[in-house]
Amino acid sequence: MNNALRIAVVLVFFSLTAAASVRVASVRTIPRSIPAHTASEKIHTPTTTQAIVRGRLRVLHDPSVAAQERFVRVPVLMYHYIRPILPHMTTSSRWLSVSPKHFRAQMEELVRFGYHTITPDDLADAVAGTRALPSQPVLLTFDDGYRDQYDVALPILKANGLSATFFVVSDYSHIPSYLTNDQIRELDRSGLITIAAHTRHHVGLVDVSPSARRDEIFGSKKTLEEIVGHPISAFAYPYGNFNEEVKKLVKEAGYRTAFSTRLGSIHTSSSLFEARRIRVLDDEHLEPILRKFGR
Ligand SMILES: [Zn+2]
Repeated sequence: MNNALRIAVVLVFFSLTAAASVRVASVRTIPRSIPAHTASEKIHTPTTTQAIVRGRLRVLHDPSVAAQERFVRVPVLMYHYIRPILPHMTTSSRWLSVSPKHFRAQMEELVRFGYHTITPDDLADAVAGTRALPSQPVLLTFDDGYRDQYDVALPILKANGLSATFFVVSDYSHIPSYLTNDQIRELDRSGLITIAAHTRHHVGLVDVSPSARRDEIFGSKKTLEEIVGHPISAFAYPYGNFNEEVKKLVKEAGYRTAFSTRLGSIHTSSSLFEARRIRVLDDEHLEPILRKFGR
C-alpha cells in the first residue's frame, strides 16, 4: 500500500452505497467541495464526524498532503461554550455548546481510555521530528475565550489532569461574558492552559481590509503577550476563514501553528497553518471519534 493511501483521514466522500442513507443537506458540508477561503464553522458539521465514525462516510487521503511528507495523526478537539443546553437554543448554538455534565463525562472518558493531552507546540515539534508524542495524543482546544471556559471547563480539566489550548479574542476582555485579563493570566499560570490568539475582534480575516487583517493577526499576538508576559505561538482563524494571504501573514507574525475548522486529524509541515480539527457535540462519546481519527 503506498503512502498516499495510508494518509487516510482527511477528505471524505460518499461511497455509492452510503449516499442514499445520508441526508442531502450534509453533502454540502463536505470540506472537499468548498474552497478554503470560504470555509466557515458551519461547514464542518457534526453530521460529517458521526457519519465517519459510523462508517457511513468513506475517508480518502488529502491530495494537499504530499505522499512523501512526514505526518502525525493527532485529533484536535474543538469546543466553544461549556454551558447547559436549553430548549430554545438554535441548532448552531447547540453545535457550539457542550453541557458541563457531558463535558465532565467526556474528560473522564479521555482519562479512562488512556489519552494524553498535548500542546500546539508539541504538535509542531512532532511534525518537525524533534519531539516524540505520548501514546494516544489529543489536543483540546476552546475557541473565543468565553467566561465559562474559566468557570466550568478549567476546574474539570484540572480535576482530570488534562491540558488545553484557549483561543482568546484579545480585545474582548472588557465584555462580561468573556475572559478578563486577570483570568487569562491565571489560566496561563495554571500550567494547564496554553493561551493562544483568535484575532482582536473575531473578524473573518479574508473579508477585512489588508491593514485590518494585519492588525488583527499581529495585534492580538502582541496584546496577549503583554498580558501573559511570554510569546504566543498558536492561532485559530475565526469562522475558519482563511486563504493563502491570511496564512502568509500568520506565519510572518511568528506563530508556529494555525487552526482551521475543517475536519481531519493528519498534520504535516505544510498543513500546520491550516490544521484540521474535530468539533465535539454535547451528546457525543469521545472514544469512538478518537479511535477513528487517532492512531
Ligand atoms: Zn471563534
